[in-house]
Amino acid sequence: MSEESMKPTYDELEAWVTHQDNMLAALRANVEALEDWQATVTAALGREGGAFFADMPKHIRGMVTQLATLTAERERLLKQLPYGMEHCTVLFKECHKGHGWLTATNWVQHGCPTCERDRLKEVIGNAVNELQYTTIYGPIVESLTAALRGEGG
Ligand SMILES: [Zn+2]
Repeated sequence: MSEESMKPTYDELEAWVTHQDNMLAALRANVEALEDWQATVTAALGREGGAFFADMPKHIRGMVTQLATLTAERERLLKQLPYGMEHCTVLFKECHKGHGWLTATNWVQHGCPTCERDRLKEVIGNAVNELQYTTIYGPIVESLTAALRGEGG
């Protein structure tokens, strides 16, 4: 690549200068807005009663209004909850094996449901094995035992 091709074109330079001019104009507008707000607050603080809501910057007034709206919505939603659920917190718990589950502060607290499921599976598996042994192998073992003792046959 030649050095000549690395040089920006006149149009590229003009676009860059235009972009910088626009950014400078935006910054000047922001500074002007801040100076206006500072002058408003200074005047408000100097008058009797001090500054009021209307003296705050527009974005702050918007946030305050949004907070009031969201607080009212929160109160409305809380009233829809059944008695006792208004101040409960959803909890994530984890057992020593790393299984996780969700519960709430006002719920009865049980242990890990995954560990309990695994424990019950084992209990059921043992019961099935015992039942199979009793019904299938049990009679065979009994007849073999009887044959070894010389009974029957
Ligand atoms: Zn577990």
